[in-house]
Amino acid sequence: MRKKYVMALDQGTTSARCILYDRQGRQASVAQKEFRQIYPREGWVEHDPMDIWSTQIGVAQEAMLKIDAGYEDIDSIGITNQRETTVVWDRETGEPVYNAIVWQCRRTAEFCDSLRAQGVEGLIREKTGLIIDPYFSGTKLRWILENVEGAMEKAQSGQLLFGTIETWLIWRLTGGRVHATDYSNASRTMMFNIHTLRWDDEILDMLGIPACMLPQPQPSSAIFGESDPRIFGGAIPIAGAAGDQQSALFGQVCFAEGEAKNTYGTGGFMLVNTGKEPVMSGNGLLTTVAWGIGDEVSYAIEGSVFMSGATIQWLRDEVGLLESSAQSERMARSVSDTAGAYIVPAFTGLGAPYWDPYARGAIMGLTRGVNKNHIARAALESMAYQTYDLMNAMEEDMGHTIKTFKVDGGACANDFLLEFQADIIDMPLCRPECIETTSLGAAYLAGLATGYWRSRDDIIANWRMDRAFEPAMSAERRETLIKGWHEAVGRTLGWARNV
Ligand code: ADP
Repeated sequence: MRKKYVMALDQGTTSARCILYDRQGRQASVAQKEFRQIYPREGWVEHDPMDIWSTQIGVAQEAMLKIDAGYEDIDSIGITNQRETTVVWDRETGEPVYNAIVWQCRRTAEFCDSLRAQGVEGLIREKTGLIIDPYFSGTKLRWILENVEGAMEKAQSGQLLFGTIETWLIWRLTGGRVHATDYSNASRTMMFNIHTLRWDDEILDMLGIPACMLPQPQPSSAIFGESDPRIFGGAIPIAGAAGDQQSALFGQVCFAEGEAKNTYGTGGFMLVNTGKEPVMSGNGLLTTVAWGIGDEVSYAIEGSVFMSGATIQWLRDEVGLLESSAQSERMARSVSDTAGAYIVPAFTGLGAPYWDPYARGAIMGLTRGVNKNHIARAALESMAYQTYDLMNAMEEDMGHTIKTFKVDGGACANDFLLEFQADIIDMPLCRPECIETTSLGAAYLAGLATGYWRSRDDIIANWRMDRAFEPAMSAERRETLIKGWHEAVGRTLGWARNV
């Protein structure tokens, strides 16, 4: 009997989702549940690993029940997850020794400063593709070993296991039999050598982390193990895993070098596939493993925008200029330009390519004629300008232009934004029918490993376009607008240092 579905487990920062996909890449069933966010102190963020596990299995069972699917209908399980979040648990009891420390948590900022002061930034960048930052798992893991009583000794004696979220879920799903990670998730730990595809002993020594607690790195599309039959009534192979952004790149079928996707969510995440070799960035972008399939590894460069859709949220919730995010489109279209106004949403500083934590937000170029519609338009335009800056940085790093550009995320519903984006980058962009690319990518990775989808061509055939957006702006106007944007950004830099 041919199996009907592939199960994607999408373990996000605020909720767990499960989607059952059919062979055409269509959603047959969806279930979602939020879980608790824990903020023990300012700047600290934690999750309860047992909440993560129970909400994830809860939604998986719910998605099956909704369409009366049994384990025998499910070909395989693919996992995608919030990246970098760190869990440590006891190999015998399965009990976490501490809450999961979430990627957003800044508790290791000082330790990261001390690493930088030792002058190891270059070495870490060269080996891992990352900058030294509390974001990544390595320093979070060290924090747990140093701060939980007895943890270091237990870890050294082999009693404790470390994992990012996919590792934790795989270990639980297999009833504690499999302790594994995939290359894309491993590449976000700051402990993984992206050239050799192994944990890096020199970095482990530097962080004081016992190698015996680390999971086995594997390709992203591979059989990791089988689920414990007690969970779904019978065993299902776990055949794919990837971090959320890499999974979205896969779900957008950006399989070839030079193919890029941008996600317009709360923040913005742009990744471009750079092919079989890692490309080191001269612009402060991150180099990461996109995925491994069999013996083949693909790499990506990644850049993020801190305030993307969040700028629209701010206009709605703090300023009260909008009733809904969608209203921004009608307002932007009611005027022909911003009347010279720019918003630079540097609320928490600026990331690549500026890297200025002291930059602060500004609305600039105001004249008496600027009204709320111009402001709404300027907010949407800021999302496009920031993406343009990332794209330029990526092209400079790669030494050639980006070939295709696909979009997803909640704010890609805004046609005005995408029209303006195409104008500013001066190339067409494509919005797929299915913008749930993160979970779709995990399903594809799993189904490719089992033969549910025979090849990447089968998957490419599933990618259906909703709409393409073509550039239509004169070169002169584009250049004038971009010049104005860079002038505006320049005036926000260093603000918090001086004020
Ligand atoms: P998350 O990053 O939390 O997964 P989503 O991908 O769901 O977020 O995107 C939500 C973000 O997109 C919010 O910041 C919201 O303000 C913005 N957004 C949603 N719809 C629109 C729209 N039509 N126009 C502009 N922004 C939008």
